Amino acid sequence: MYILYIDDSGSARNPNEKHFFLGGIALFERQIYHLDQALEVLVTETGLPEPQKLELHGNEILAGRKKWRQIRGRGDRRTIISDALAKISTIRGPSRLFGVVVEKTAIPDRDPVEFAFEQLCSRFDQFLSRQRHDGQDQRGLIVMDKSTRETRLQALAAEFRAGGHSWGQMKWIADVPFFVDSRATRIIQYADLVAYALWRKFECGDSEFFDVIRDRFDASGGVVHGLHHERYANSACDCPYCQTRRT
Ligand SMILES: [Zn+2]
Repeated sequence: MYILYIDDSGSARNPNEKHFFLGGIALFERQIYHLDQALEVLVTETGLPEPQKLELHGNEILAGRKKWRQIRGRGDRRTIISDALAKISTIRGPSRLFGVVVEKTAIPDRDPVEFAFEQLCSRFDQFLSRQRHDGQDQRGLIVMDKSTRETRLQALAAEFRAGGHSWGQMKWIADVPFFVDSRATRIIQYADLVAYALWRKFECGDSEFFDVIRDRFDASGGVVHGLHHERYANSACDCPYCQTRRT
């Protein structure tokens, strides 16, 4: 079984924000423990009290909110985010990040949350399909943060099996998405950091965090499948999705 943990970033409705983002990480069941442990060690090494209660949320760490205010240097807090993202290297086997970047004005007639969710689910399903071609008879599950800012995501998850999507039914995803408390699993916190890294790069022009993970998105045959960047066709972009689709 592969589990895709996802979280969102940005606001679909705020006109001051150009993009909406979903980020995620797909782990084979045996890989979950290793990433969880690596992140637990990282929070312990911050030296902050009660590390088990520290949540890794990108915007809180960078802004120094909540317990993170005890780490005074913004540079030190940036390092925590980068180091946490780099923990993907501790899992054995290929790493498979997923992400969707939606420039909202590029799809004016569509709900960006629905578009992004469809893209992410579809790309995860395609990944599972590819695994089956390679002899791995595995199915997948999607896990989301239950306190996601976008309540639209919760509605979409509820409609997941109802069908009627323009992109057809998911073939290899075993059940409706499950919601978890982000305090209970470090992996959903990792998904938050992936979404945050996308937000920092595409909304703020700060690619420091994205550069840590840019080669970790699901790819096959030199084509990046795990990242989708919906944008105006005539705008230049150096992201792995756009770079592997140059014509
Ligand atoms: Zn791009």
